[in-house]
Amino acid sequence: MGKILTFVIVSVLVAYLAMQWAAPRFDPESLKGARVLVTGASTGIGEQIAYHYARFGAQIIITARREKVLQQVAEKCLSLGAQKAFYIAADMASESDPDKVVDFALEKLGGLDYLVLNHIGPTPFGVWEGDVEHTRWLMKVNFFSYTQMAWRALPSLEQSKGSLVVVSSLLAKMTSPFTLPYTSTKFALNGFFGSLNHELAMKKSNVSISICTLGLIDTESAMEKVRFVKYATPP
Ligand code: NDP
Repeated sequence: MGKILTFVIVSVLVAYLAMQWAAPRFDPESLKGARVLVTGASTGIGEQIAYHYARFGAQIIITARREKVLQQVAEKCLSLGAQKAFYIAADMASESDPDKVVDFALEKLGGLDYLVLNHIGPTPFGVWEGDVEHTRWLMKVNFFSYTQMAWRALPSLEQSKGSLVVVSSLLAKMTSPFTLPYTSTKFALNGFFGSLNHELAMKKSNVSISICTLGLIDTESAMEKVRFVKYATPP
């Protein structure tokens, strides 16, 4: 009995120590002064991400299309503890704005430690009626701009052993009705950045990629869409 009890206690202790050793560690100090660029930061999840970095004393660049709102978010970032907070209005459907935003961040902060790609363009929630033009436009905003910004920022992230964070969705892993263009852009993101992760590992790159798979989160724009979900088909 004594031996069994000792064995159980030792096993539990070993399992506990193994968990402690393997568990990811987060050092809040590591974000103090970190140079961060967050896209889609005028509202919703991007805005909250910016505030989190701000509380840890990061240096932040935020971007989206609405300049006035960005200005307010940047002011709040400073009041929460950000060392620096700058904003730049940009439209991610444009060919040149994704590069312009990264260049602005590199110039203002002298480099980047974190690039958080989070923005999405507005898209209808409903049965797809063949709107190829909208799908093409959404691909530009939700996908091509991500690849463009990542490429532009990679040399700086490489130097800083930085991180590339891609905000994706459960809808990048499973198909469902009513969000065809959006789902397509998220599948594309997972395919691209998952593959890029392999290539960076092959090159023994310093840059880490995190693809965030989010379920439904009650941001204003998401709630506006799913309020019709109780119906079998959207109105
Ligand atoms: P929101 O719709 O609330 O915010 C989108 C952001 O993107 C805004 O800041 C908007 O600002 C900006 N934006 C829109 N169009 C453009 C454009 N053409 N160029 C530049 N910026 C643009 O989104 P959420 O916060 O709900 O979602 C954030 C991320 O989380 C997205 O990647 C989304 O796919 C993901 N996600 C969200 C879920 C949810 O339930 N909320 C679930 C799963 C994933 P502005 O209008 O000022 O340009």
